[in-house]
Amino acid sequence: MNASPANATDSNVLDLIRPDLRGFGGYKSARTETLRGDVWLNANESAWSNPADAGALCQRYPEPQPMALRAALADLYGCAAEQLLIGRGSDEAIDLLVRALCVPGRDGVVISSPVFGMYAVSARLQDAPLIDVPLRDTERGFEPDPDALVAAALANRARLVFLCSPTNPTGRACTLEEIAGLAERLAGRALLVVDEAYVEFSDVPSATSLIARFPNLVVLRTLSKAHALAAARIGVAIAAKELIAVLRACQAPYPVPAPCAELALAGLAPVALAQTRERVAVVRRERARMRDALATLPGVRRVYPSQGNYLLVRFDDADRAFAALLSTGVVVRDQRAAPQLGDALRISIGSPEQNDRVLSALAVGEAAA
Ligand code: PMP
Repeated sequence: MNASPANATDSNVLDLIRPDLRGFGGYKSARTETLRGDVWLNANESAWSNPADAGALCQRYPEPQPMALRAALADLYGCAAEQLLIGRGSDEAIDLLVRALCVPGRDGVVISSPVFGMYAVSARLQDAPLIDVPLRDTERGFEPDPDALVAAALANRARLVFLCSPTNPTGRACTLEEIAGLAERLAGRALLVVDEAYVEFSDVPSATSLIARFPNLVVLRTLSKAHALAAARIGVAIAAKELIAVLRACQAPYPVPAPCAELALAGLAPVALAQTRERVAVVRRERARMRDALATLPGVRRVYPSQGNYLLVRFDDADRAFAALLSTGVVVRDQRAAPQLGDALRISIGSPEQNDRVLSALAVGEAAA
């Protein structure tokens, strides 16, 4: 029998928190008091709502963690409300994790490049050493190297290992077995943070179901992608409730603006959710169509398989492809500065009409070359 899962449960995940933050309660806002009354004069708010605020939604400070939204998100993601922290996008969750876990100048953050840039930005802001264990470019696509990830984390006293799944920009999603294996090997040593910003578009299930087994596992979700609410800035961290309480203590007093919470709640109502699912299905169909169509275009070297709402594409001349798209008004993400991606662009999957424009702009650009 393998002894590691027992170790995983025995070790206290709070031991991984910065020692100077243990027992830190954070800011006690007027909203966190459990007082009752009908004349609220405890937060220096205005007694009147702003003339532009027809619903008087913004006169008072909002709930720090809006209860109704938290319950709806917990329901959506299949976890308990106390296991979930709402923040300003998953960007904020990444930042909170780095701040709460890493002693500046000492505790490292492991990433696998090429990958979403915010892990490195948050590490830099915290002066946490960044350890890169690059993805391997294989016949199947870019893949992480689990042995190298664990070895690098342990050798460098890393507190956080970020696993982006599906990976932005390279597209692969990790299986639950891979994630469980990593979480187990990192137990007691580091948190494994699985960023699932794009998981709705993938074939793999969310790793949230593994949190009960692995207290050192954190899952990040967002309403910015499949749910089409990027400007509302609602993202969540899902983890053991003790860890969520620590992250909350490190967060700003009122991180969720009331209009955003209201919109997000409406966006999770059954009718909206049904439409979101339909659109995800369209994106998945279009992703397959675009992958096939792009692969047959002259000038395209390789289209990577993708579980996200984007495709990573290598070109003979990425500069020319980028310019051809831009000249017709189509803006894609230039990846050429990213490690291993000197000839690549990342193209988000748009509506069928938008995707057709990508194909014709590239075909025309190549024919003119
Ligand atoms: N994670 C990944 C992998 C992303 O690509 C993004 C946004 N591009 C984010 C997190 C941040 O998303 P948000 O802050 O909007 O939730």
